Amino acid sequence: MSGLRAEDEFMAEADTGLIFLGPPGAGKGTQAKILSAYLGVPQISTGDILRSAVREQTPMGLRAKSYMDSGALVPDEVVVGIVEERLSEADCSPGFILDGFPRTVPQAEALSEMLNRKGRAIQAVVSITVNEDELLARIGGRRACQNCGKVYHIQNEPPRKEGVCDLCNGPLYQRDDDKEETMRRRLEEYGKKTAPLIDYYSRQRLLVEVAGIGSIEDIQQNIRKALTR
Ligand code: AMP
Repeated sequence: MSGLRAEDEFMAEADTGLIFLGPPGAGKGTQAKILSAYLGVPQISTGDILRSAVREQTPMGLRAKSYMDSGALVPDEVVVGIVEERLSEADCSPGFILDGFPRTVPQAEALSEMLNRKGRAIQAVVSITVNEDELLARIGGRRACQNCGKVYHIQNEPPRKEGVCDLCNGPLYQRDDDKEETMRRRLEEYGKKTAPLIDYYSRQRLLVEVAGIGSIEDIQQNIRKALTR
């Protein structure tokens, strides 16, 4: 039971500020969602916010769409604006988990500046590591529900009925940016622009590395253990 006690200590920390960092397909979103429910703080996924803006055809969505479709990163000022607005909402006052942000050094600098202004800080950056062959296999098989957003994998986590969401019966689809060519571009963007953040946060002694291989539950336990250290 000592593991649980350690987790409780982590939970007790006021104003939790965590970042989930990792290449596309590493399982950031899945793990951030579970930890967010466990800690009772919101998960803020810039990818989800952008996809919903694209669906609703807001001016921001229209601007972001072409970047996302090609696997490129959306300009820093757009995502920094999204995060700043989201962090000022009431549900973020006990804490937050950032999933997919920051993705560039300028975004990390903007985040640190905005948190400073609010008298807040990041406690830890969870970096999930997975090798490239595994990433390609994972992203290629990923499917999501068009209604509720639940994510499946055609081999590793298939729905009970092919093409149909277990939770809401919605249709499953493959994200356009999960298709082979776009996926390679996203991995390239990650290597060039996001991977330098590993060094950036490591120098600030905030980095916590967790191997993203194994069952979803095991990885989650490893994340919680790593966060209590
Ligand atoms: P994700 O769901 O996190 O894989 O994000 C999907 C796409 O949204 C990315 O490929 C980018 O085009 C865009 N995006 C999400 N978060 C960011 C970010 N922090 N900076 C720039 N672009 C982002």
